[in-house]
Amino acid sequence: MTLTLIIVAFAQDIAVRELRDRVGSNLQEVSLQMRDKMEMVLEERYRDLLGLSGVLALDAGKGEYAHVRSMLDSLQATYDKFAWLGLAGVDGRVLVSSGGVLAGASVADRPWFRAGLEGPYLGDVHDAQMLAEILASAGAAPLRLIDVAVPVYSSVSGEQIGVLGAHLYWSWIQEIERGIIVPLESRLGAELLVVSIDRQVLLGPPGTVGTTLDTNAARAALSGETGHMVETWPDGERYLVGYSQTRDHAQYEGLKWAVLLRKPARSAFEPANHIRNGIIVAGLLSALVFCMLAWLAAQRVSRPLLDMTHEAEAINEGRRDARISPRNDFDEVNVLSRAMNRLIQGLKGQEQELRLLNTTLEDRVAARTEDLELANKSLRDEIAMRERLRAERERMIRQLQELANTDALTGISNRRHFFDEGERLLKRVTRRDTGAALILFDVDHFKRINDAHGHGVGDEALRHIVARAQDTIREVDLIARVGGEEFAILLEDEEGGNVRDIAERLRALVATSPLVLPGQVDGVSGQAETISMTVSLGVARLRDCPGPDLDILLACADRALYEAKASGRNRVCSYHPDPA
Ligand code: GH3
Ligand code: MG
Ligand code: MG
Repeated sequence: MTLTLIIVAFAQDIAVRELRDRVGSNLQEVSLQMRDKMEMVLEERYRDLLGLSGVLALDAGKGEYAHVRSMLDSLQATYDKFAWLGLAGVDGRVLVSSGGVLAGASVADRPWFRAGLEGPYLGDVHDAQMLAEILASAGAAPLRLIDVAVPVYSSVSGEQIGVLGAHLYWSWIQEIERGIIVPLESRLGAELLVVSIDRQVLLGPPGTVGTTLDTNAARAALSGETGHMVETWPDGERYLVGYSQTRDHAQYEGLKWAVLLRKPARSAFEPANHIRNGIIVAGLLSALVFCMLAWLAAQRVSRPLLDMTHEAEAINEGRRDARISPRNDFDEVNVLSRAMNRLIQGLKGQEQELRLLNTTLEDRVAARTEDLELANKSLRDEIAMRERLRAERERMIRQLQELANTDALTGISNRRHFFDEGERLLKRVTRRDTGAALILFDVDHFKRINDAHGHGVGDEALRHIVARAQDTIREVDLIARVGGEEFAILLEDEEGGNVRDIAERLRALVATSPLVLPGQVDGVSGQAETISMTVSLGVARLRDCPGPDLDILLACADRALYEAKASGRNRVCSYHPDPA
């Protein structure tokens, strides 16, 4: 329906425009015809006068005015629109005239005479001046005339002898109107307006004559254009106007009248409205018919489409055997069903490809994952192995360090390690200002054991004594072999009395724990042979020594040991600083 209305509006627009152009062109054409006709009539009059001026020049030159007058009279008789014809001398006095009117009168200051002295002249419409009373005007309307004038030259001397002038009744133009426009008006429904160069309506429908017209069409025509246009006139009516302007003649200046033919727009476009109504009715009817047909067609089309929809739903639900069955209801459905089948087959194929691709992808991902896990495992193994190696290396380093620090025979710290550790311990003690003490002991007459039992037993005896010492001291105390059969024990946080007791306990323990030599039986007692040993011990307290230095502390203890040896062995001596 909307489409119909759009088409109607469009069609109407085209129709109106076309009709306007056609009618406008017609009006323009008639306007041109009217113009041509007016130009032609005026030119005929000009030629009348030109011809006459040539003929009367001879007679006028001789002063034979009677003959001239008869010629003027006969010309007036030929064309009754000549209101007056007359020959005026160069001084402006009328020498001779049709009917003798104004003969002898002066026309020297009449525009036609003055212009006629110069050359052919055509004068615009004006009210009769001198002739008004003489020539009876038809009806009450003022007598209106057009002037035509040509100069007259002597056929003998060639000199100007006067001006031949003529006044034309304005009514000639009304005759043209009657002859051309009236028949056209009944057919065209158009009205003629002739407008002078000063925009005065010379000719037009009742009420317009004598008014000033200032419409676009009039302006366009007066500026020399020819054409047609639609515009609203002062009477409030929209008109389609065809217009043109009368032109100059080769010999004289034209009147330059605007020739307008107007036709009310509503009557000019009326046919378009008829067309529009016709189109609307036809459009509505065809729309109705089309709707019915469409409804019927929809009934036919929708059935197979509905079936196809069900089939498509079945496919969507994934039923294996579901498919769009080909249809022969009519071509389009047939084509559609086949196209849908192809589409579904294509989709199924793509789905399968996707599945395959998916499976391949999954396989590849699985294989890749396996590779990665393997790589990961070997990496973990390698890390674990490296960790083991590192631990082993550290253990070996520790072992080496221990070996380096340990006395191979007795398993306690060696002299070097004793000094390292001992220095550290003394620094700590000095920092905390706690006490420390050193026990230095030496096996008494050890040389004899070696000599009596051999070096191996000597070694065994050393290990035996060390074991006794370890039984006596605490875990934190540092024991070391500082010489062949000489040992040192560094004790932290021990004060004098206590350390002396420890030394004493050790001495007693060694003295009372002989070394049993397994496998060697004493021949006298029949018991396993034993070796009794004693040790001499020197004790020194850090606070008693002259400085917090291990060498000094050792020297102090050595001094006490020397004292123990010197005073009979198997005893404990303490270092005492010399009284100052
Ligand atoms: P004193 O009571 O004055 O200390 O007499 P001593 O015999 O113990 O002292 P001396 O310094 O004269 O002799 C020490 C001996 O210890 C000499 C040496 O052969 C022995 N000796 C040193 N180191 C070892 C060792 O590792 N094993 C054995 N079996 N004997 C050693
Ligand atoms: Mg000794
Ligand atoms: Mg010794």
